[in-house]
Amino acid sequence: MTVIGVVGGGQLARMMIPGAINLGITLRVFAQSPDDCAAPAITAVGDFRSAEDLMAFCEGLDVLTFDHEHVPVAVLEALEASGVSVYPRSAALALTHDKTVMRAALAQLDIPQPRWAVLGASRNPEEVLQQVGGFPCVAKLPIGGYDGKGVRVIESFADIEDWMALGDVLLEERVNFVRELAQLGARRPGGSWVSWDAVETVQANGVCSEVIAPAVGLTEAMRADAARIGSRIAHDIDVVGILAVELFETADGVLLVNELAMRPHNSGHVFTELSVTSQFEQHLRAVSDFPLGATTLRAAHGVMVNIFGGVDPDAARSVADNYPAIKIHSYDKSPRPGRKAGHLVASGSQIEFVLQDARDAGARMNTGRYDG
Ligand code: ADP
Repeated sequence: MTVIGVVGGGQLARMMIPGAINLGITLRVFAQSPDDCAAPAITAVGDFRSAEDLMAFCEGLDVLTFDHEHVPVAVLEALEASGVSVYPRSAALALTHDKTVMRAALAQLDIPQPRWAVLGASRNPEEVLQQVGGFPCVAKLPIGGYDGKGVRVIESFADIEDWMALGDVLLEERVNFVRELAQLGARRPGGSWVSWDAVETVQANGVCSEVIAPAVGLTEAMRADAARIGSRIAHDIDVVGILAVELFETADGVLLVNELAMRPHNSGHVFTELSVTSQFEQHLRAVSDFPLGATTLRAAHGVMVNIFGGVDPDAARSVADNYPAIKIHSYDKSPRPGRKAGHLVASGSQIEFVLQDARDAGARMNTGRYDG
């Protein structure tokens, strides 16, 4: 029986559990706390920055993979050097640790992306600004940002004085996108790659709130373009497991890469119900070098809505009562304002109805009750 270890005990690890059970895979999760939401599969608690803790966890594993991208590269390299099968590999994961490194790697591969430049102590800020087309532009902390924290639209350098004091800041042209998309797929160590059609992601305050799958009204050329970008990145940087590519769609139909994730991604939650194979099962298949599952859709359309703060039991009951076909996922987290606490998925043949049901159910769940 294959034994897969997952670093991180969040909702992504939690949602790998059903796929592991179905495939007869033993899943062991290394968490920061025994109460993390992947609790049913947690077998070790420790510090993911510690090579020693992780080395002990890797005893008896066939493969080590991740629910987050925070394990330091030096620790990953030490694990690899000691013979652990780490997927994705440290060289690929390193791109997700630093947005400037990711931009430089994508530039080398000639992948379309927003104009960008790094603002650092040794650079003339005005020259750097010219490279991204002037103000307003987007400033990003290269390391440690998530869910829009570490991203600011700026009108002047005074807006990021605090960040400039810390070190390098990534500047990007402010893309006037018509919508945001995500292209997901999975790749096995030998190179075989299977993808889903691109989805539309909707963000509120820099956080994903809704996903529409597949993206509505995408031309065949853009659908193929998104698929090609995903496959090229996966192959050229040797990603194993799920790759999620966040994209901007511009008014003239050009796709630009915003970000990469090398693990199951919020934009792929919809596939648990919508696709024959969920992204979680596909990730386990890919990292254990098992044939990938079909990504055929079970319905024409699916919509996922995130639930923030906490999952209110009364609201869940009301959604279940009114929408028996909607699937509710609770991450079993203690409530906290703004926290991703769960999601729901509606699917069906007519996008207007699927959207309406998902949004109505989402509004019932996002009561604000846990917002402080
Ligand atoms: P995080 O890593 O925190 O998720 P992202 O780099 O994905 O940050 O940015 C968060 C959101 O900010 C994006 O989903 C998008 O809406 C907006 N954004 C990021 N970069 C740009 C850009 N260059 N132009 C316009 N909007 C941007």
